[in-house]
Amino acid sequence: MLQLRDQLHFFLRCSIGDGSTALFWYDCWTELGPLCLIFGSSGPRSLRIPRSATVSQAVRNGNWNIPPARSETAVTLQIVLSTMAVPLEDNGPDFYSWRNRSGGFSKSFSSRVTWERIRNPSPPVHWHSTVWFKEEIPRCSFITWTAFLGRLPTRDRLISWGLVVQPGCVLCANADESISHLFFQCPFAAATWSRFCGRYMASSPASLQEVSSLCQQLQQSPTPRAVPVLKLLNQVIIYYLWYERNARIFRGESSTQEAFFRVVDRRMRDRLLSLSLRSSTAPSPSLLELYFCFISPYS
Ligand SMILES: [Zn+2]
Repeated sequence: MLQLRDQLHFFLRCSIGDGSTALFWYDCWTELGPLCLIFGSSGPRSLRIPRSATVSQAVRNGNWNIPPARSETAVTLQIVLSTMAVPLEDNGPDFYSWRNRSGGFSKSFSSRVTWERIRNPSPPVHWHSTVWFKEEIPRCSFITWTAFLGRLPTRDRLISWGLVVQPGCVLCANADESISHLFFQCPFAAATWSRFCGRYMASSPASLQEVSSLCQQLQQSPTPRAVPVLKLLNQVIIYYLWYERNARIFRGESSTQEAFFRVVDRRMRDRLLSLSLRSSTAPSPSLLELYFCFISPYS
């Protein structure tokens, strides 16, 4: 955070008008950046300008009012000030501008542009579009994203951290709990996936990577519009399996296989219906109709 504060002048500049708003020591109003960073804590004393002063307080009778320079830094400041217009009331208020996409400055602030400049981007992962897409349910995307990263606190991970917990899966009690078991290999999970095996999915997927590959294959097929439905189905199943697992561990509550399927089905229908209500120009068939093709005729 300290680093970010020190770098703020990289993103935010102040253009001086009347000098009554810009802070002399803290705002970035000269080419030198915030003066507090180059003068240090002794700056206010050496220039006889209070720590909370505005730029206009460094002006007297229409001229810069800076004491004779006693350091290289003070000489540099005087040179820079000699190239700048002295703040005048007639110049209007000071205004701030933000670093824009092209590297220049503009009056409007964009959180996206600023975030892109602050962060250190990692190479894109091939599965990102399986997790983040327009029709997503944010809380389901979040759990799915955490699962793709392998960071959900499943019991195998808790044990690897040295915690003393039972290793077994609470959904089937037949195997140790891991991400791949809980969401795919577990009979409870596999039975849920199998309810959606039909026109677009020949068999239950065995891993998150397989779901991602299936989405890519479907994208190349004659029905690419079914892709968002599959992505949504993936994240809804993962979210509710995680929910079911937590309910069993922490609240001692469990759903039957059929009740669990109904929860997933209800959530899918609600989401897809709300999407079709939101868009009156959606092409036919609707996403909800495409979802019906996912449901196995034997469900
Ligand atoms: Zn299991």
